[in-house]
Amino acid sequence: MTPEQSTGRREFVKGLLLFPLAILLGRQKSVFAAGDDIGKKLVKGTDPMPSALKYVDDAKKAPAAMRKDAQSSCQNCAQYTKKATYKGQEVGMCNLFNGGYVKANGWCMSWSKKG
Ligand code: SF4
Repeated sequence: MTPEQSTGRREFVKGLLLFPLAILLGRQKSVFAAGDDIGKKLVKGTDPMPSALKYVDDAKKAPAAMRKDAQSSCQNCAQYTKKATYKGQEVGMCNLFNGGYVKANGWCMSWSKKG
């Protein structure tokens, strides 16, 4: 075996060893990017439209006089579609909030029972 062949084989083996590491690091980056994206799109009760609809990210904090059904929350609302888990909590899209994520345990005064 010539020195050039030996170097080529060494580079090939090094590439084989680094390939899985590169894939792993690529996945980690995409997981964090997805989480960051959800965090940026989480609806806040202080945003204009959610505020007007009295949105809260915990249904237990909803005004009792407005929350007629004690079981009502985003997760059983007709406007809600489950999308992901963010920081250990289920989040989803609300049709009313244009691409924003609401917490499954959230609530607003437009709640209507999922059929
Ligand atoms: Fe939650 Fe339904 Fe209100 Fe949207 S409309 S914030 S899903 S209760």
